Amino acid sequence: MLTRISSLIATMLLAISGVVLLSAPPANADACYTWGRTLRSGTTGADVSELQERVAGWAGYGVNMAIDGSYGPQTTQAVKNFQAAYGLSADGVAGPNTFAKIYALQDADCSPLHFSWAEVDGGCGAGGYSGGSVSATTVKTNLLRSMWRAEALRHRLGDKPIRVTSGFRSQACDRSVGGSGTGQHTYGRALDLVPVNGNSTFCTIAKGARYIGYGSIFGPGYPDHNDHVHVDIRSGRTWSAPNCGI
Ligand SMILES: [Zn+2]
Repeated sequence: MLTRISSLIATMLLAISGVVLLSAPPANADACYTWGRTLRSGTTGADVSELQERVAGWAGYGVNMAIDGSYGPQTTQAVKNFQAAYGLSADGVAGPNTFAKIYALQDADCSPLHFSWAEVDGGCGAGGYSGGSVSATTVKTNLLRSMWRAEALRHRLGDKPIRVTSGFRSQACDRSVGGSGTGQHTYGRALDLVPVNGNSTFCTIAKGARYIGYGSIFGPGYPDHNDHVHVDIRSGRTWSAPNCGI
């Protein structure tokens, strides 16, 4: 009840003095992360990394953007493309409107709106994030970056649902499904994607993924990849989906 009253008061205040409030930095705008300043070309810091993690999927065709806390040309381009994709003024500067859109696109647990931790955690029924090739913390960081790119891909494909059939795998799980035991899934860097209800196709996913910053894409025509598209965020460019012309 108290929350509802507070929320009502906040809404009334916003209605009364909306412009002033909207131009101020958002306070506790998101349970996951809140930016406290405008970021632009030349800015450095951990808040830049937080931004990069969420917009890296918009850097452009074949660009696997560095998440390095330094707001350079790739970050500017990624922010511009993100802004354009979501109907914002595309100036490449990350201010309140850009942050508001990001807040709207993520859940309180930091996962992007249309993907969930439950979808990407340990395969083979294990759940969790341990037993991989890196620490559980690093696995989760990598998964988050993979999921934000998937969110960008989903929007790029016209907001058509995409499902993750396999994300993180422990080394034991990876081996049990025929993997090497040390592949990208064991780092949390890989997702296997499938279309939902025929809205997208394996080929539209594979083709679209080229614009999202995935270093690897394996889809239809690549051995054992006719029923999913594997994408991962490793560096380099290893793309193969011969049935899709890739
Ligand atoms: Zn895979």
